[in-house]
Amino acid sequence: MPQPLQIGQRVKLRRPHACGGDEWQIFRVGADVGLRCLTCGRRLLLPRGQLERRIVAISPPDLPDA
Ligand SMILES: [Zn+2]
Repeated sequence: MPQPLQIGQRVKLRRPHACGGDEWQIFRVGADVGLRCLTCGRRLLLPRGQLERRIVAISPPDLPDA
């Protein structure tokens, strides 16, 4: 089942980035999904199917604490 990916969500990927960070924020969705590394700020695009196989956790979009 496809993951309900939304801009602003944070995801954890199976393998850490080269910088050591493993948390990313989604800034673009489509056939390719744009991710920004929350540790070093680099951006990358991954095909959606490839990304879905790498995700280990999804957090909701950033919202003020309720
Ligand atoms: Zn990074």
